[in-house]
Amino acid sequence: MLDTETTIIVGAGHGGSQCAISLRAASYQGVIILIDADAAELPYHKPPLSKKYLLSEDQMAVPLRSASAYEQANVLRVSDTVTSIDTGKQVVSVLNGPDMSYSQLVLAVGANNRNLQLLEGLSNVHSVRTLQDSSKLREFVLTTQRIEILGGGFIGLEIAACLAGMGKDVTVIEAADRVLGRVVSKVVSTRVHKSLEQLGVNVMTGRMATEFNSDDGELTSVTLDNGETINTGLLVVGIGAVPNESVALLSGIACDSGILVDQSLRTGSANVFAIGDCARYPHWQTEKPERLESVQNAVDQAKLVATQISEKSTLDYKAVPWFWSDIGPMKLQIAGIHKGDTEVVTRVEGDKFALYHLQEGRVVCVETINNAKDHMVARKLIGSDVQVTAEDILAGADVLKALLV
Ligand code: FAD
Repeated sequence: MLDTETTIIVGAGHGGSQCAISLRAASYQGVIILIDADAAELPYHKPPLSKKYLLSEDQMAVPLRSASAYEQANVLRVSDTVTSIDTGKQVVSVLNGPDMSYSQLVLAVGANNRNLQLLEGLSNVHSVRTLQDSSKLREFVLTTQRIEILGGGFIGLEIAACLAGMGKDVTVIEAADRVLGRVVSKVVSTRVHKSLEQLGVNVMTGRMATEFNSDDGELTSVTLDNGETINTGLLVVGIGAVPNESVALLSGIACDSGILVDQSLRTGSANVFAIGDCARYPHWQTEKPERLESVQNAVDQAKLVATQISEKSTLDYKAVPWFWSDIGPMKLQIAGIHKGDTEVVTRVEGDKFALYHLQEGRVVCVETINNAKDHMVARKLIGSDVQVTAEDILAGADVLKALLV
């Protein structure tokens, strides 16, 4: 038994760091230990790593908060890797230090990039997850003109747009018949595709890379399923992410493509929560377990867990999910997720675009481009009881806003 109530948070990214600060803000009196394996001096924002940070050596990492913010909150930051958890004794083991006991444990270990074994060890193959990854890519980009991107998901396309903006020759190779195929509607995929082409990106959809040809530890070319071979100076792999669940699995915590939690974000093991990219939770919109990768999801889940630990309460997680991505001149925002068929209503005003998904007269999801106003209104409509018609949507965001009062 611990003399002092102690919360250990594993992972100091968007979720873990927020959880530590929110705990103290909620007047939690116990010890807060925040452990992270990343060697960076301070926890940092991840989104700029595939966007602004790549543009020039002058771009610096953006800390989530200052060192003094952690000191003031009396958060003990530990730079180490958690290797196992004894959920019975409530003890975590780390690579380089002594074991640590917890009263409450929060797993905020995030996700990692999915990699292709075939490409391991090749010096000009990159992917971006950490500050170190992005810095390495930035260095290589300085001396490389031809860049191939494997995967037309958010991170791959953000990088493609940045590099094209820097005058590089960029080709995106996407196996599906459209970019962002798993996450946005067809019409949004088309808009993004066209916008990338306007930036000079060669976007190849419906094309599989079948062979990677290398020489002396360097990738030299990629062969596609149509027989075409593309010479490459540098390959960026952006083929999705996998949750960091190995430590949880090893420790007997139930996982299934993510650490499984209930509505209050508790795992099956006593006093162990999981939040953010690593957690799979029952989603109130789809009514099935979902694992979401977004800053909003990590931060909102962190806040809810902090409240529950400090109040010793049980609360359900029901936040409206939202996400953004900056792809060249396009700010894409998505709020809500939907299951099954929806009634789709689209409004376009100049370069502002909004696509609403309705079910039984209610907004369940909205995809917008360069249109923060509709995004913000939609976030309030989703999950509310407000009934909306296609005419309301076509009349504009102000009309929708008026329905909320
Ligand atoms: P993370 O922030 O990834 O933090 C996990 C932490 O756990 C890491 O610091 C890691 O070092 C640590 N860790 C893992 N295992 C261990 C261990 N065993 N011991 C100790 N520490 C460990 N989201 C958006 O909404 N919009 C965007 O535009 C956007 N852009 C992105 C761009 C990039 C390049 C990336 C990588 C992600 C982007 N995301 C974006 C997603 C967003 O960053 C993540 O959803 C968010 O970081 C999740 O927070 P998290 O706390 O769950 O995980």
